[in-house]
Amino acid sequence: MDHCHTSDLISLEQALEKMLSQIAPLQQSESIALTSAAGRITAAPVVSPIDVPPFANSAMDGYAVRLSDLNGDSPLPVAGKAFAGAPFTDTWPASTCVRIMTGAPIPAGADAVIMQEQAEVTEAGVRFNAPVNAGQNIRLAGEDILRGASVLPAGITLGAAQLPLLASLGVADVQVMRKLKVAVFSTGDELQPVGQPRQAGQIYDTNRFAVRLMLEQLGCTVIDLGIIRDNQEALRAAFIQADSEADVVISSGGVSVGEADYTKQMLDELGKVSFWKLAIKPGKPFAFGKLQHAWFCGLPGNPVSAALTFYQLVQPLLAKLAGHTEWQLPPRLKARALTPLKKSPGRLDFQRGIFTSNAQGELEVSTTGHQGSHVFSSFSQGNCFIVLERERGSVAAGETVEIEPFNALLRN
Ligand code: AMP
Ligand code: MG
Repeated sequence: MDHCHTSDLISLEQALEKMLSQIAPLQQSESIALTSAAGRITAAPVVSPIDVPPFANSAMDGYAVRLSDLNGDSPLPVAGKAFAGAPFTDTWPASTCVRIMTGAPIPAGADAVIMQEQAEVTEAGVRFNAPVNAGQNIRLAGEDILRGASVLPAGITLGAAQLPLLASLGVADVQVMRKLKVAVFSTGDELQPVGQPRQAGQIYDTNRFAVRLMLEQLGCTVIDLGIIRDNQEALRAAFIQADSEADVVISSGGVSVGEADYTKQMLDELGKVSFWKLAIKPGKPFAFGKLQHAWFCGLPGNPVSAALTFYQLVQPLLAKLAGHTEWQLPPRLKARALTPLKKSPGRLDFQRGIFTSNAQGELEVSTTGHQGSHVFSSFSQGNCFIVLERERGSVAAGETVEIEPFNALLRN
């Protein structure tokens, strides 16, 4: 049961607006080799140092000709050959043609390339059997990209769509934003790191593992401060160390109102709380604020809530701070619910679902099952969030709902 007055809670949109309006992107950038730039964010527009193509070349296998040599119908002897990487550089006698392959530089003076399918090779030379237009089958220098033209904007991630383009331009180094430094720790007397024996009453630390993994995928440098016990001195020391080393500090656990929940109190003492109660489910207790140097995000302890609030709130924060200008979550889509979905009004629900497209191309979604905030397997079974509006109650099978496909952080 939810005994909290939901009117005290701020909405997801308000929370995001509060977070994103306070922070400004990092200012530092560095120049790095293209070969190690995957996943990095451009710090400035990238301009082309060359024309692409760098020289006029043939779009076809065929024959390079001068239009003035094509008068009449007489066949043209072949004066030589031009290959990609081996241009024709001999003198080119009048009334001859040059055999040319795709990608080969156009011989000086040539007006057109005639494809070999439109040529007939005879003893006397090559006869052409189709009309010829000036410039045909010639790719001009700079036709694709002009030297000095901007090929990539600032603020985008370099990946398989961008880096080969830069390689094709001979760009060996690229100016990128420096990596974000993010400190992470879990809080809880019950937590044990994976790989250690588990004592009675202990559970394995899921959240630090999840957060570290997602931070690495987002290209952050992770400072792992381990598991912090539920006492104020240990927590204070962790906060102070994290604040001195990182741009962002992320903790999990201890943000609700239990007797061992000191996280918000510590943020109050050492910094400034911006907000800490959200009208979303799972994930109501999520603390955001500022320490002396670093931004602070206090994730809830329940693993589904921790992963969800990281995904929906921390991810956009890190994207902005890291210098992304075009970052977005996947768009929400309409789908028909195939299963009933249990919900009570008051909070925006992020249930985990499995969506597919039916034979008519319409989207359908079913629940992954138990939606408890400790059921982490719902992420590995699902491929989307089913986003149920704050005031909505339970959903019957057949109703239309919004889904939000998982992005690369959660995608199976
Ligand atoms: P708390 O917010 O600290 O009261 O934690 C809420 C619930 O999440 C409790 O059942 C905790 O045992 C559990 N929990 C807290 N931190 C973690 C963690 N790092 N990994 C797994 N479960 C956790
Ligand atoms: Mg705890």
